[in-house]
Amino acid sequence: MLTAEAVIDLQALQHNYQTLKQHCPQQQLVAVIKGDAYGHGALRVAQTLTSADMFAVARIEEALELRAAGIETPILLLEGCFCLEDLMLAAEQRFHTVVHSDFQLQQFTSAQLPAPIQVWLKLDTGMHRVGIEREQFCEFVQQLQRSSNLAGELGFISHLSCADDLQSDTTARQIALFEELTKAYSGPKTLANSAGVLFWPDAQYDYVRAGISLYGISPSEQSIGQDYQLKPVMSLKSKLISVRQHRKGEPIGYGEIWRASEDTLVGVVAMGYGDGYPRSAPAGTPVYINGRIVPIVGRVSMDMLTVDLGADASDKVGDSVELWGRQLPIERVAQALDTIPYELCIKLTKRVAKTLAS
Ligand SMILES: *Cc1c(COP(=O)(O)O)cnc(C)c1O
Repeated sequence: MLTAEAVIDLQALQHNYQTLKQHCPQQQLVAVIKGDAYGHGALRVAQTLTSADMFAVARIEEALELRAAGIETPILLLEGCFCLEDLMLAAEQRFHTVVHSDFQLQQFTSAQLPAPIQVWLKLDTGMHRVGIEREQFCEFVQQLQRSSNLAGELGFISHLSCADDLQSDTTARQIALFEELTKAYSGPKTLANSAGVLFWPDAQYDYVRAGISLYGISPSEQSIGQDYQLKPVMSLKSKLISVRQHRKGEPIGYGEIWRASEDTLVGVVAMGYGDGYPRSAPAGTPVYINGRIVPIVGRVSMDMLTVDLGADASDKVGDSVELWGRQLPIERVAQALDTIPYELCIKLTKRVAKTLAS
């Protein structure tokens, strides 16, 4: 019996792609599939999104795997190359790379590459993580444009730090700085992540980079994907492996952190931190079973977690349980867990089988 599984709905993925496309019909859409497509399976996602204009990943190994599997769509390395060997590989494989530092500029301009490579110059417009400063901008542009290693026109990329917060004035300042620095250049520009696509049309430029929203998940803690007509791609499921009588006052699980206030039935679900479900889940974290939400009680252990089914429950061993997905938005679960959906879906372990929704 298959217990813990992440059921992947490729039709929902396609639907989300089309829905996002409607937000930016003039733009090219970059599907961000780093981190094994946020735990959804990068290769299958890439094979499904055949009309994506580009894919983006964080590490060259992720890009190499996609190429080796026959994905010919352009692939952008979001943080560029970290050493000369990787830059050579990137040129060989025709990846797009990013230059965000003196180190990368030196490496790029002095390398003897097997072929010219497309470069996106990363500007720091406010994230202050990677990217070059305003004062360095002209120098970087000149050096890159002069290099025979550059293929095509130099592109420009920056990243929004607060786009999920509609009250913050940071995004408007980031857009203004990006605009000011790049307006004299005709090369391709990209600034928006999912929150940029959904909330900041001025940030869309030529290419938008959508990650979390492709998977049907809202980039904002104030909403769920469904609010934007997005559909959850992943449903994390497992099974009830036991239903037990539990008497008032009895504790449950490691550390006895919960005691029943009434006689009840406790369900044991084959799902634990060994599957990537957070051990930190507090009592009350929602779980979906047989048409209703029940609370987690007691500590999540490696292979199991326990839920309070209620005294009148008729749930049986083998019944299907959904931890998040179609019936229970992952945004709600993330809120209960004091984290964000990104972290939940990417942390699933390989013990969780990936299956396709029918
Ligand atoms: C991960 C990432 C994205 C995608 O962000 P979402 O919020 O998932 O849409 C876009 N751009 C960069 C540089 C990233 O690292």
